[in-house]
Amino acid sequence: MADTDTIVVIGGGIAGVSCTETLSTLCKNESITLVTASPLIKAVTNFKQISRRLEEFDVVENPSSELQEEHRNVTVLQAKVVSIDPLKREIVTSNGKTVPYTKLCICTGGSPKLIMKDDPNVIGIRDTESVSQFQTKLGGSRRVIIVGNGGIATELAYEIEDCEVVWAIKDKSISSTFVDAGTAQFFLPHLSGDKNVQDGPMKRVKYTVKPSPASSSKSGAKGGALGPDWSLGIPMNGQVQRSRHVRVEYECEIKEILSLAEIRQRNLKVDKIGDMEDENTDWPVYALLTNDKMYGCDFIVSATGVVPNGNKLVTLDLDLKLAADGGVIVNNCMKTNIDHIYAAGDVCSASWDWAPHWLQMRLWSQARQMGCYAAQCIKADLNDEAISLDFCFELFAHVTKFFGYKVILLGKFNGQGLDDGYEILLRMTKGVEYIKVILKDGRMQGAILIGETDLEETFENLILNQLDLSRYGEDLLDPGIDIDDYFD
Ligand code: FAD
Repeated sequence: MADTDTIVVIGGGIAGVSCTETLSTLCKNESITLVTASPLIKAVTNFKQISRRLEEFDVVENPSSELQEEHRNVTVLQAKVVSIDPLKREIVTSNGKTVPYTKLCICTGGSPKLIMKDDPNVIGIRDTESVSQFQTKLGGSRRVIIVGNGGIATELAYEIEDCEVVWAIKDKSISSTFVDAGTAQFFLPHLSGDKNVQDGPMKRVKYTVKPSPASSSKSGAKGGALGPDWSLGIPMNGQVQRSRHVRVEYECEIKEILSLAEIRQRNLKVDKIGDMEDENTDWPVYALLTNDKMYGCDFIVSATGVVPNGNKLVTLDLDLKLAADGGVIVNNCMKTNIDHIYAAGDVCSASWDWAPHWLQMRLWSQARQMGCYAAQCIKADLNDEAISLDFCFELFAHVTKFFGYKVILLGKFNGQGLDDGYEILLRMTKGVEYIKVILKDGRMQGAILIGETDLEETFENLILNQLDLSRYGEDLLDPGIDIDDYFD
């Protein structure tokens, strides 16, 4: 099948697989070829819409044969794409195969931004392979330093046990990719001691890692990015049995990574933490922070975000236009600047005029939505039909879990792009829930809901319908008032 003209999708992550599955259903008479460097591919299962815009699903890694069995018009090739020729409309793979395409969708994801790329003491977390490397290292560790302040760093800071953690962040507050300083305060008590008691089963997106001997890719391109709940069921224990403690170093980065020999040679002073070390304690590696603190540790985890793999495609002799963040620019039909080439997921930068309450974040949910929508756009293009932007791009809606709490982010949840002209309403019950609402001219622009608030559906509607809420004032968050009754 792959030797005839076909729609080609590159990437076996959630964007590529969602695109392939949707294409298979929408374009029953076309052949579709998924080319992926990773031996296992992602699959979304148990998909549930928990409100109009929030979705819940489990994610598994499956062998590619399952996708081919379920979708008769799909062929999966495990290989790295090494060149794309937009004039001949064909791709060439690392194993020398040439595949002509009618339409091409690039879903090659991103790569972790590593602070020190080739230092064996620094590891990044992106895929199943890197998690298993991390677990093995952690098992023999007394202290790790986490660098970064996004979702992965936040999950690690919470999940790691039996090992001291130093969390170096460049901001004034923790978890700043997702929450502001005020919201971060709610989480601070959970950096030490027992884990959050609410941390039982909860409704949310779940990620399953199926261990597989075949899971390491030899082609150089890494496997698909992990995603929601990647840390659940993955023990993260070090070798010192003591109560959890995370020491946060604010507003700093790593200036230098040094060996024990360099510390001795330069006679540098090492900062001590607690009673775990004395003058004679040696560490495999030392990190000098920009605030001049120097800590020893067993290894460093670099969780400083992702760079879209757009740059890697440019080296495939492709004249693709990239955005400032390195993502491949796509328009509101997921089209790149090159005819017949589309892109979706982490690799792309959504460059259309965004709806007032949407923003792009490189998240699992958006990778799925973009993959599905790109397939619809390809189908419309093949049939010469017009298509309008999918409604999932009207409102940013994301559900995740931090410090054992369900966290829902809606719309401009941090007042993004609203300058200073907005007000904030807050309701907090320590250790139970935290609700923050962003209002502009009396209309709701965004919200952060932490805990089991049950307000997501109502707030989604209020953001979308832009009802004037001025007359409710602070009553909007009065726990004695059932606001669902007002607005449903
Ligand atoms: P990827 O999953 O990166 O897939 C890219 C695919 O392309 C891979 O299969 C790769 O092998 C293939 N590929 C690359 N180059 C080539 C090539 N040249 N030829 C052939 N194939 C190629 N998101 C959330 O929403 N919630 C979370 O809690 C969350 N937690 C995360 C935790 C971790 C540790 C990480 C790393 C990410 C997390 N994310 C989370 C982000 C989420 O996982 C990504 O946004 C999403 O998986 C991106 O999917 P994708 O399909 O665009 O890219």
